[in-house]
Amino acid sequence: MTDHTITVAGTAVDTRHWIGGERVASAETFTDVSPIDQSAIGEISRGTATEAAAAVAAAKAAFPGWAATTWTERARILHAVADGVEKRLEDLAIVETTDNGALLRSHRRGVMPRVAHNFRFFADWLLRLDHDDFETRGHTNHVSWDPAGPCVLITPWNAPLMLATWKVAPALAAGNTVILKPAEWSPLTASLLADIAAEAGLPAGVLNVVQGYGAEVGSALVSHPDVRRISFTGSVPTAKRIAESAAANLTPLSLELGGKSPLLVFADADLDLATDLAVEQYDNAGQVCLAATRILVEESVADEFTRRFVEKAARLDQGDPRDEATDIGPNIHARQLEKIDGFVQRAVAAGARAVIGGHRKDGLYYAPTLLTDVAQDSEIVQEEVFGPVLTLQTFSDEEEAVRLANDTRFGLAATVATGDRERADRVTAQLVAGTVWVNCFFVRDLQAPFGGSRHSGVGREGGTWSFDFYCDLKNTVTAPKGWKDH
Ligand code: NAD
Repeated sequence: MTDHTITVAGTAVDTRHWIGGERVASAETFTDVSPIDQSAIGEISRGTATEAAAAVAAAKAAFPGWAATTWTERARILHAVADGVEKRLEDLAIVETTDNGALLRSHRRGVMPRVAHNFRFFADWLLRLDHDDFETRGHTNHVSWDPAGPCVLITPWNAPLMLATWKVAPALAAGNTVILKPAEWSPLTASLLADIAAEAGLPAGVLNVVQGYGAEVGSALVSHPDVRRISFTGSVPTAKRIAESAAANLTPLSLELGGKSPLLVFADADLDLATDLAVEQYDNAGQVCLAATRILVEESVADEFTRRFVEKAARLDQGDPRDEATDIGPNIHARQLEKIDGFVQRAVAAGARAVIGGHRKDGLYYAPTLLTDVAQDSEIVQEEVFGPVLTLQTFSDEEEAVRLANDTRFGLAATVATGDRERADRVTAQLVAGTVWVNCFFVRDLQAPFGGSRHSGVGREGGTWSFDFYCDLKNTVTAPKGWKDH
């Protein structure tokens, strides 16, 4: 055990970067803090432009070799990475929970199995990509999915390994090399992924991990001229900064950003189901990009909906995310908690009423909150809070419901609760959102396109859409004549 290894709930985690198949330490470190009790977990290497340049150079050097591997060989190694994730599932689950405060039971049973699935899915999808030849006046067209080169992948803290591997798996499957920069509030599982990938036989330099702050190592990565793709999940202000840097090099970008998604509850809905869907929005302490944080209820059922919602929300168990019984854990960081409370207090000062919650609890816990009497153009309705805070507004007819639902600058997701199939068809056709759920929530298949409209993002991930982004498609046209006769 070296100075650079920390033990997190019994699991050894290397706190250095992973560059070119070697552990590299920075001169400076930053302190990683657990949101569960705000205790220091350890000191993590704090990357700078120097480590960013080294990681891009390693990815560039490894690119020709990895790009030349056969599709079946790449798929085999990605399945081996998935095996490694499954083997270390328990370590990954407890380290992630310690690092970002999300529920251990979700990491064990939902998230980490999905992380393994991300590798299996994109390995298998690669082998299904269409690469048929076709003919033009006797000439042959051959379309190839050429890998693009080094890809910079930048991820947030709310679902660290899940969101990272949505990017890492298709980028590697496509034959690219990768520099992953996890969020500074949750850096640990990316380091474990580097160990797992190396054990699975991924060659040195194909996956690189650099830790540190966005403004330091992140900005150096996204402005590097040798980077061929940038895939970013995070907030709108950061996305704008990254887009400016990328523009200087014309680096193609994929942006998965924030949301302020609506849940539309019509009077004909199953109110039991609708209130279940609404209470589910407190999952991960509200730190879910897709969360339907604006509840829109038809006037005639608003009182009954609210009564049932309050009853169910009162049964939620808030506490230590390592306990099986816990439904809501802490928020990620003191700064995030202040941001959440600021939104709520300003809303209340502007006339909103907290039906439940509206205040902090001990540590980094925030009481699940439902606010009514909120104006459509108010901050609390228009801006993403990223905490356990929902608003409730009413509507009188379908037209008003759709108008309110679409009236923000976001367009990530929307959920509709109705018992009328024709209404569902009419309403979903008018909603501006990358994903629309009807009488369900959070069902996500990697075959489906995923992404946001308007300020919720640029581009789509999933299935072939991921390969569209991570590949340079090339069409080779060959004439029927011109070959020498030997
Ligand atoms: P953030 O934008 O603050 O940070 C995200 C990442 O960007 C971090 O790794 C950070 O270090 C890095 N970064 C910051 N400044 C940078 C810069 N100048 N150059 C390069 N990198 C930089 O976001 P966050 O607070 O970590 O995450 C929460 C946000 O992410 C919310 O808005 C949420 O909705 C969004 N999100 C979106 C999705 C989606 O799929 N659409 C999924 C999860 C989270």
